[in-house]
Amino acid sequence: MNPPAIVILGEASIPISRQIQAALPEAIQAALPEALVYGLADRVQSIVITYDNFGETVRELFQAGTPIIGVCAAGILIRTIAPLLSNKWQEPPVLAIAEDGSAVVPLLGGLQGVNDLARQIAAVLQVAPAITTTGDIRFRTTLLSPPPGYTLVNPDDAKTFIADLLAGATVKLFGEAPWLENSRLPIAEAGQLTIEIIHKSQSQPTSTPSQDCLVYEVDIDCVEPTQGKLAIVGTGPGSAVCYKTYLDLAEPLRKTHTTRHESDNRVELDRARFALDLAAQKRTVAIVSSGDPGIYAMAAAVFEVLEREAKPEWQEIEIQVCPGISAMQAAAAQVGAPLGHDFCAISLSDILKPWDVIAQRIKAAAQADFAIAFYNPVSKQRTWQLEKAKAILLEWRSPETPVVLARNLGRPGQTVTVKPLAQLAIEDADMRTVILIGSSKTRIVQQRPGKQWVYTPRHY
Ligand code: SAH
Repeated sequence: MNPPAIVILGEASIPISRQIQAALPEAIQAALPEALVYGLADRVQSIVITYDNFGETVRELFQAGTPIIGVCAAGILIRTIAPLLSNKWQEPPVLAIAEDGSAVVPLLGGLQGVNDLARQIAAVLQVAPAITTTGDIRFRTTLLSPPPGYTLVNPDDAKTFIADLLAGATVKLFGEAPWLENSRLPIAEAGQLTIEIIHKSQSQPTSTPSQDCLVYEVDIDCVEPTQGKLAIVGTGPGSAVCYKTYLDLAEPLRKTHTTRHESDNRVELDRARFALDLAAQKRTVAIVSSGDPGIYAMAAAVFEVLEREAKPEWQEIEIQVCPGISAMQAAAAQVGAPLGHDFCAISLSDILKPWDVIAQRIKAAAQADFAIAFYNPVSKQRTWQLEKAKAILLEWRSPETPVVLARNLGRPGQTVTVKPLAQLAIEDADMRTVILIGSSKTRIVQQRPGKQWVYTPRHY
């Protein structure tokens, strides 16, 4: 397929056209010269391809099978292309995008992957794509526009096949197709319908292509994954929003997302092993941790299992750790800059290490005058550790030391309070609280009545 053309009406749409370009798959970007943004001759200065007649240009692009991303009203595109609409099998993707990036509307080209394109662009613009095709929404895959490498042998049967699926039929899958296995298709061993994947070199499918049986031919050389991938992703402390964005971004790929179990390290190790095993099957796996995945979270678990068990099939997996904003940073930003100078983080959980070690560390940090972020301060089972920590701190820090208690950061019910160390109490904290303890230099500054900030100066 041709790389998409981004068609804009005026100079004001240049920034959004650049964002859209950034959303396109890397392979396309590499082949995509700047010139593929089309702008009206009189109205744009900063681009290479200009046109005089919007209608003619768009129709030419459409007839050449070029995907069209119009930064303009959907109506304009519809009216422009309407005279040419005759064969949905040959329609390239056509999308309308609001000039301010607030709407991404796939209009045509459902069979050529318009919804995937819409998802990619919408993810970058951080909006929900206006996807309306039922099969696509329900099954998260378009049987009619398989990924590169796969060709549907009997497209004419697909309409009835999909109608049956929508009516509740289940489907059995013969052969390997991760994009189907990872979709929301109702795959069942005793499915009434069949999807068979055959290799190009294989001459005949075992099943007969029919309205009950879709057959895809796969050209192994064109199917991408030659090795598994494992992304260990941090979502920031709030989760919901970023989390969804990440999943949307990963949507064209398979993702196995997990939530964090606070209680039991073995569960984390099991999950890490499971993710590595999945990736070893050449799948693309994402493990999602809140905050930063490398701070009291899954990344260390993955490397721990990787080192300890060192399975040969894990060697080729491409592992990537994608950082996120950790709870202490989010908490600090709420109140100012309490971690503005040297600081450290200590988990008060003595499930994975003995309390003596923790107590020793708190003492050392207090002595060294670090600002301290306490993670896992209190849980239902662990109620005394925070009191002990406070007692140790008070041996070295003034009772007036500012303490920040941040609970449910970025989530509903977020609370952030500041109080002197002397008043810190167990009831102030739970497992969803991160606590920042100021150093001896940490100060509270009054900006205006009712507005105060906490910060640790960098000069003293
Ligand atoms: N990887 C996470 C930390 C996980 S450990 C990160 O980088 O933030 C779990 C602890 O993190 C919790 O007990 C709490 O102390 C802190 N925490 C995680 N999310 C939080 C949030 N939204 N608000 C406040 N504290 C949070």
